[in-house]
Amino acid sequence: MKIEDVLSLVRPHLLTLQPYSSARDEFDQEKNKDFNFTYLDANENPFETGHNRYPDPHQRELKKLIAPIKGVDINQIFLGNGSDEAIDLVIRLFCSERDNILIPAPTYGMYKVSAEINHIHIKTALLDEDFNLTNSFMSNIDMNTKVIFLCSPNNPSGNLLDVQSVLDQFKGIVVVDEAYLDFTTSRGFIKQIDNYPNLIILQTFSKAWGLAGLRLGMAFARPEVISLINKIKPPYNISSATQQLALKAIANADQVKPWINLIKSERERVATELSKLRTVKKVFPSEANFLLVRIEAAQEVYDDLTGDRIVVRDRSTVVRCEDCLRITIGTPDENDRLIAAVKRSL
Ligand code: PMP
Repeated sequence: MKIEDVLSLVRPHLLTLQPYSSARDEFDQEKNKDFNFTYLDANENPFETGHNRYPDPHQRELKKLIAPIKGVDINQIFLGNGSDEAIDLVIRLFCSERDNILIPAPTYGMYKVSAEINHIHIKTALLDEDFNLTNSFMSNIDMNTKVIFLCSPNNPSGNLLDVQSVLDQFKGIVVVDEAYLDFTTSRGFIKQIDNYPNLIILQTFSKAWGLAGLRLGMAFARPEVISLINKIKPPYNISSATQQLALKAIANADQVKPWINLIKSERERVATELSKLRTVKKVFPSEANFLLVRIEAAQEVYDDLTGDRIVVRDRSTVVRCEDCLRITIGTPDENDRLIAAVKRSL
């Protein structure tokens, strides 16, 4: 597939859209930072609060640090107000009302919600009992299927999906949501963005980096696609506070690896402990920072846990997740309390 083919999938009016040009676009503060300019161009408050100036709309400092970590060029990175913003922008970039997206079921809920907000049809393809794509997954597409979202590792099941098979077959946009990639043994698909111009990777600072409250998500794709996403984003979508705090977190990146290792070893410990319990029917193999657990009377267990001041996610009404709770891996102490509370609830 060529990049021209991908651009032909974009909603035509967005190709020619003249984006909003912010004060910070018209006069580059970053380039001129060594000179003592007086800024009277953006209707800001001149009195210093630490955040009285608008942030860099292109988040250049941040992208400079992210690029080598991810092994991509700066112009292959989009930063969003959480990866949820990227999900919405991708749908808006490619889908008109006659188009549809294809998603597996069950999967992360925001693909459907974002599509519904944008009044886009949704096709769902049931995963098999082990949460893998079925052989007939691709038979769900039609000529109006613009985007396939694959969450890998998948939420709420925790397993990797067969992304390659979809990339090999689909000529529309393939979004691979790698929010939980740091907890897997897989290297993910970011290295493939040069080979597949229709591939968009989503990652986030909300999970392994421990910054869910900041709202900082990433999308990686070919520069032509990234520049179109940038064109339709709100101008100052990443706050100055977020940019500053993310820069600090990247400077302290050494702390992330030990967190990931501990969460992974705790995931195995919690899985082993829960599997020993009589009422636990299955702990699904997980490559994420959570476990999907099939347990007798899941809703009652959920209530008992809440009574014990432990909140997990009741997924028992979700397709393929009958009698399942999704349990995030906490600190060793939190996990001990979880295991003890599940035992008490039996
Ligand atoms: N993708 C997946 C698969 C998720 O589970 C989540 C959040 N639970 C997100 C994206 C959203 O991440 P962010 O905080 O970056 O918006």
